Order: sequence, then structure tokens, then C-alpha cells
Amino acid sequence: MEPEAPKYARLREEMVRRQIEARGVTDPAVLEAMRRVPRHLFVSEALRDQAYGDYPLPIGEQQTISQPYIVAEMTQALALDKDSRVLEIGTGSGYQAAILAQIAYRVFTIERIRSLYLRARRLFDELKLFNIVTRYGDGSKGWEEESPFDAILLTAGAPRVPEVLLKQLKPGGRLVAPVGNEHTQELVRIVREKTGFREARLGGCRFVKLVGEHGWKEP
Ligand code: SAM
Repeated sequence: MEPEAPKYARLREEMVRRQIEARGVTDPAVLEAMRRVPRHLFVSEALRDQAYGDYPLPIGEQQTISQPYIVAEMTQALALDKDSRVLEIGTGSGYQAAILAQIAYRVFTIERIRSLYLRARRLFDELKLFNIVTRYGDGSKGWEEESPFDAILLTAGAPRVPEVLLKQLKPGGRLVAPVGNEHTQELVRIVREKTGFREARLGGCRFVKLVGEHGWKEP
């Protein structure tokens, strides 16, 4: 990889200060990850100069890379440490997985659109992110063979949290997901406790649809 232009490091620092710290994200590991990952490499060349803006961007196939603040907020809500095994559903550009990979031990990520899956996989290799394991398929069913996970993150909006995913959480494990209708959702955080599940709501959000057996039907 070529060294990055200094302007991207400057834009990234501004992004962390103005969009993320200013809105109350405090976890040092999350802030450090957001400072380190070159977000501009996860979008097309034409959009590179907009990569550090306070909004989502298109990544092709009618999908998006999420707004930086949402990525930071969801990552903080997962409460990861260096031993965590995390499942992400919806690889997309690969940016969120790259952030998770800075903090956790291993990241398992699933994408249902083949071209996005292939592009993200290539980028993970180029960036030497060897603790990310990729899969092409329907992530709404989770990843049974690799379960249980310390944390599960859905980066696509679901009509409800799939039961099958809750079963793939370790005791004490956290799941974060946008849940709602096809247009707007609420970010939900569920913790698996000894005797059941505890749920908290983190606020409104807007994601593309989780499409699959336990999500929305194929368009
Ligand atoms: N995490 C991504 C990133 O950092 O760029 C953003 C994800 S984008 C908002 C949502 C992604 O979820 C899309 O790439 C979409 O194809 C994918 N997706 C939707 N339903 C899925 C499913 N059942 N299994 C796996 N991926 C799915």
C-alpha cells in the first residue's frame, strides 16, 4: 500500500474530534481505532475526499458505508476487549469490520452481495487485517459453526432481532442491531444474562435492509 496523503490523516483527526468525541463517544479503544483506519480506502476513488464527512456514502449495489459516528457508537455499545470474538452481519465496504478488528481478537463478517464480499476481502488482505474472517451468504442465520460469540453486530435493519442470533451469544454477550420498519429503525442493545436477555434502546437510526431468511424477503 502506498503511504496516504497527509490530508486524509488531517480529515480523520477532525472527524474523530468533531463528530465522535463531541457526541460523547469516550471508549479510548474505539477512538484509537477510528483514528487509525483509513476510511477513504473503503469508498470509490471518486468519493475519497468525502469519506470523512458526517454522513453515509454509497458503495454500489444500492448499499452504503455507515456514517462514522454510527460506526463508533455501535462499536462502543459492543464493549469489546482484545479477547473478543465478534460476528458482524453486513460486511458492505468492510470499514466497520476493520474498526472491530483493531480492538477484538477475531472478527467474523458475512455479506450477501458477492461483489461487495469480494471487494472487502481483497481490501482486508491489502491492509493486512488477518484477524478478519469473511463469508459470502445469508448472515441473518448467524454463523453457527463459529458460535458462541462475545458480541454480534447487525449493520442492516431487521424487522426484529432474529432468535437464532441470540442463541449464538455467549452468556454475558452483547448484540447490537437496528430494528424497525423498512425506512427507520431504533438501535437496540441486548445482553445475554444468566436467566434471560436485557434490552436497551440507544436511539433512532436509518439502515438499508437485512435481507434473508430471518430478515426482510428478497426484493
Ligand atoms: N458494515 C458496512 C460497512 O462498514 O460498510 C455497512 C453495511 S451496509 C449499511 C449493510 C450491508 O448489509 C450491505 O452490504 C448488505 O448487502 C448487507 N446485508 C443485508 N442483508 C444481509 C444478510 N442477510 N446477510 C449478510 N449481509 C447482508
